[in-house]
Amino acid sequence: MRTRRLDCPTCGTMQLFRFLEKDEKAWVREKEGPNFYVDNLWRCTAKGCLTYYPHMNKGGYGRLPEKFLEEETAADG
Ligand SMILES: [Zn+2]
Repeated sequence: MRTRRLDCPTCGTMQLFRFLEKDEKAWVREKEGPNFYVDNLWRCTAKGCLTYYPHMNKGGYGRLPEKFLEEETAADG
């Protein structure tokens, strides 16, 4: 899993982010439209955080629905 430490606008701290999973991308496409570019979206893996944003564009962040909440915080790597 590709991960990266990024500044999370919701957590207010540096967090481990990963690229969106296939079903998460599908959800974003439904929301933003079929042409929305989803392959550069990072999401925060902090427990309870659903924030995602495009690479190098923190201002364009959004939140995934709660069905994508993760039980565990992802490990470094
Ligand atoms: Zn976060």
